[in-house]
Amino acid sequence: MSPFPEECFDTSPSDGGGFYPALIHQKLDNEKYEIIRKLGYGRRSSTWLVVDASRGDLLAVKTFTVGASERAKNIELRISKAVARVDDAQRVLRGFWQESKAGTHLCFVMPALGTSVERLANEAEYHRLPIHTVQRIIYVITRVLKTLHASGIMHGAIKADNIYFPANFDASESKPTTVTVKKHTTVISQPLSSRIKWNSKPKIVADWSIYVGNFGHAQKGAYEVERKNDYSSAPETLLKDASCSPQTDIWMLGFLAYTLLIGNSPFASYGPSYRRIATMSASVGDDIPKTWFSDAKMKQYNPDANDGSNVVSIEAGLATVLRKKDAKEAAAFIKGCLRLDPQNRFTAKECKEHEWLAHAGDCSCC
Ligand SMILES: [Zn+2]
Repeated sequence: MSPFPEECFDTSPSDGGGFYPALIHQKLDNEKYEIIRKLGYGRRSSTWLVVDASRGDLLAVKTFTVGASERAKNIELRISKAVARVDDAQRVLRGFWQESKAGTHLCFVMPALGTSVERLANEAEYHRLPIHTVQRIIYVITRVLKTLHASGIMHGAIKADNIYFPANFDASESKPTTVTVKKHTTVISQPLSSRIKWNSKPKIVADWSIYVGNFGHAQKGAYEVERKNDYSSAPETLLKDASCSPQTDIWMLGFLAYTLLIGNSPFASYGPSYRRIATMSASVGDDIPKTWFSDAKMKQYNPDANDGSNVVSIEAGLATVLRKKDAKEAAAFIKGCLRLDPQNRFTAKECKEHEWLAHAGDCSCC
């Protein structure tokens, strides 16, 4: 495990590392922006809250590692231009290059975002959000996916920590602090909050602004499974001959809807692929595509082993928490997203127009 409590400064650029070593009050892009806070970091970038020196606006600057900057330029920046056409998506306002002692970093200027759906769910009891809240979140994602998929773009990371609410800049903030590990000093992350409550009534939730962020795993055209990316157990990504596509986003969407409603994911994220896929097949009530049986990772699959015999169905899982009618309606949507064969899943358009989302707020949870 990395000794670094924040971004790992020990990874070399050839291994995707080489983080931008920034401190508070540091200037970026020829003094155009001043760093005032660190918002967070990922494997390939760190994100800073900055003030635009000439206009006084608060913005986010995402600084890519030296090792990830070239990919970000060739893929992410290109995709962000297509994404800019989607109202609700997180858009890159501009890009610039920044030098540091680690090398050259690509930087994106973006609107600063607030709390994530992940953090909102963590505030709720048992990490379960009310049905009308989940419906609103899922609906906004389907709108974004419909536009992305129409342009041949797969998002690749439809997860609760990549969906955001608008930032609340008024919150009283504690002063940023730093930590030093080995010879590296870095600022401690302080994500922005949002002015929303997890238990808001349907009338308020219906007006929530929600943004789909993090296009770091997005792909266009020839889709290739990223070895280290977890696609919420999407079965096509677990095969030896693994694949992914925009339909993988739909699986992740169904997985997310279930997880937000129940507070637990529908499938375990460990074990051999053949057993995981057998469990999914039993839980969703959907046959394993015949062509998958010749895959090297399905060799040990035995249809008589009853790998799915004590599996809880999607609908029964939902019914442990929701009223029967609510569980049935949610299951109709979720099972359409979790079909094993990607081609049999709902399209983004079908998701957006699904009656479970059309009747948002008809739930008995409020
Ligand atoms: Zn409700």
